[in-house]
Amino acid sequence: MSGMDFQTILDEINTELRPLLGTGGKVASYIPALARVSPLQFGIALRTCAGQTAQAGDSATPFSIQSMSKMFSLTLAIRALGEAMWDRIGREPSGSPFNSLVQLESERGIPRNPFINAGAIAVADRLVSQGDAKVELLALLGRLCGEPIHIDAEVARSEADTGFRNTALANFMKGFGTLDNDVATVLDVYFNQCAIAMSCEQVACAAGYLCRDGRHPLAGTPVLSAAQARRVNALMLTCGTYDAAGEFAFRIGLPCKSGVGGGIVAVVPDRLSLCVWSPGLDGTGNSWLGRQALELFVAKTGLSVF
Ligand code: GLU
Repeated sequence: MSGMDFQTILDEINTELRPLLGTGGKVASYIPALARVSPLQFGIALRTCAGQTAQAGDSATPFSIQSMSKMFSLTLAIRALGEAMWDRIGREPSGSPFNSLVQLESERGIPRNPFINAGAIAVADRLVSQGDAKVELLALLGRLCGEPIHIDAEVARSEADTGFRNTALANFMKGFGTLDNDVATVLDVYFNQCAIAMSCEQVACAAGYLCRDGRHPLAGTPVLSAAQARRVNALMLTCGTYDAAGEFAFRIGLPCKSGVGGGIVAVVPDRLSLCVWSPGLDGTGNSWLGRQALELFVAKTGLSVF
């Protein structure tokens, strides 16, 4: 297994899937800046725990990481707050859409988990209480990738201009006492974190601490404790891919976190971190081709947590 030729495997996946570009999936249209992205792109990249890299297709093209940022903001919040992070945020799959208001009302403003929008907004609130959350998040990502990471200002503006449901979720939580800071400040952090642009290669590197018991992918220093990293992986498996988490576990069997920009990051504990990207989404909001790429990767390598 250790001698697996990952470069050949990723090249094969790229060759097999590229002809499917444009035949399925739809680019997210509810954020205008995302609707303009060409759907005819596919990238895949991985980085092993030993530092070996492999990549294919549009793996160096930056894209909007969107909800994949929720994994990194959660990491920052756990680092800052430890167990207290969970005081007003749950850990159960939601079983309802990522921007649902209904569940939040019946559960009195406590979001089900940190990966639905309400949960990520509550995490952003905790980060605002700790300092300059935007700066901290970019600094963490820059350290994890070993190069500077930026926010796409146009996407951030587009998020803010059209983020009516997110504004409703935040106001709702503020009304229930789930947020400590003012709504506008918290949403500014949330909209900007969604607008961070990274490539598959950068995301695969940045997520490296999740397959290495919490240790920094380049320096080996602790980013999270081993127990905390295990918990982030558990949440990714159960809540990381919207309402398709069960199907992802069934077909792929890896902790994954997706975003409506078309990226999906996956973790093979103790082996590697992997990122796929293709902007066309399926009906569950996950990358249509990205999901097929992960299925192929698991089929070809036999790597899965199960
Ligand atoms: N900015 C998006 C929103 O909150 C993120 C959605 C996503 O990637 O799931 O609507």
